[in-house]
Amino acid sequence: MKYVPEPFRIKTVESIKMTTREYRQNAIAEAGYNTFLLKSEDVYIDLLTDSGTNAMSDAQWAALQMGDEAYAGSRNFYDLEAAVQEVYGYRYMVPTHQGRAAEHIMSRLLIKPGDYVPGNMYFTTTRLHQELAGGAFVDCIIDEAHNPYSLHPFKGNFDLAKLERLVREVGPGRIPYVSCATCVNMAGGQPVSMANLRDLRRWTERHGIRLMLDNTRTVENAYFIQQREPGYKDKSIKEIVREICSYTDGCTTSGKKDGLVNIGGFLATNDEEFFTESKAQVVIYEGLHTYGGLAGRDMAAFAVGIRESVATDDYIRYRVEQVNYLGEVLTAASVPHVVPHGGHAIFLDAKAFLPHIPQEQFPAQALASAIYVETGVRAMERGVVSAGRNKDTGENYMPKLELVRLTIPRRVYTQSHLDYAAEGIANVYRLREQVRGLRFVYEPKQLRFFQARFEKIK
Ligand SMILES: *Cc1c(COP(=O)(O)O)cnc(C)c1O
Repeated sequence: MKYVPEPFRIKTVESIKMTTREYRQNAIAEAGYNTFLLKSEDVYIDLLTDSGTNAMSDAQWAALQMGDEAYAGSRNFYDLEAAVQEVYGYRYMVPTHQGRAAEHIMSRLLIKPGDYVPGNMYFTTTRLHQELAGGAFVDCIIDEAHNPYSLHPFKGNFDLAKLERLVREVGPGRIPYVSCATCVNMAGGQPVSMANLRDLRRWTERHGIRLMLDNTRTVENAYFIQQREPGYKDKSIKEIVREICSYTDGCTTSGKKDGLVNIGGFLATNDEEFFTESKAQVVIYEGLHTYGGLAGRDMAAFAVGIRESVATDDYIRYRVEQVNYLGEVLTAASVPHVVPHGGHAIFLDAKAFLPHIPQEQFPAQALASAIYVETGVRAMERGVVSAGRNKDTGENYMPKLELVRLTIPRRVYTQSHLDYAAEGIANVYRLREQVRGLRFVYEPKQLRFFQARFEKIK
């Protein structure tokens, strides 16, 4: 098992609390067996999400001190704009406080009621904003993406036959854009290939349809292209990122992932008219177009983070290989999980892990609780609880994938943290028959996974 050593050393440390099993049993019971309701202080290693949990560099902390907090025309805005042009290659940029705010603006401007927006699997906030604007999301990802054990190297790819079918059914006039995500989150952080992007570009041009990128994980995706796609092993991550963006008309971006900051996002485009309209929208929902809901210092740290993410290939190699290392250790312990390993997280297969718990008793939710009690590691359910209920029938959606996500924050944890987590999870696997199912004691109507409470079934 290969661990790529960290391309940095540690200058500031933050203490984390080690607790006893008894303490954690009480804490998770008080949290209603929902890891979202645990106090961060009661968590030893936090693998809930990689969103906004990044450790900033000394250069980013220094940049914070250089914040220009002018209401209009902050120098940090111009620097962020230059970083976006340099690294991603888009001409125009509108800052937003995070990714979903950019999705909101883009969806409002481009989608009309009755439109269809094809994408490579849905993302929660992306789909919600498409629906709020009156559009319908249509999944056009390849079938392999829905199979946790398919070894396809680019499970984020579009199936062009599915796009062709949609355009034949509804016509190109009802499709304002194709929404393409890099390193598809809900498929397990699975990349899209450059060949697929090129085909997609040709297809959208032929039909006069825009191609918009969810650029949140493009740097992670570029690493997989470099490693797996013929013709790219001698290209730098920076070159590959530029090429990915060059096939698209614009993007929405959450800076809380690849951008190496704790808050921030933007919308970018090469289309001047769309840019002008976006600036008119951002003042309504976020703030003036030269800060978009961010402090000057946030934009300063963000600009440095964007440049750092591609400055050398060392950072992203370490980042993605660290995720892979955790997967390899779990493979050696025979713990069932999604393969190939994605760019930001390892997803445990709770159906295979806990075959004695029926899906109605929330095996992934039960597993995330058991992992916390055993190890103090916080993970997240991605299964039937997250999927919610069908609005018309009231029945639970029963998704094929019943997963627990172990998400790795960037530049935060070391090899020994990951070894500790994997060893604890392997212990839970050994004692898996002792894990029991859960039932609801409180179920919120929407996005229930955040605040639901459960009890153990005796
Ligand atoms: C996190 C994320 C978003 C939303 O961004 P926020 O900054 O959380 O609003 C959109 N798309 C993808 C792929 C993401 O991972």
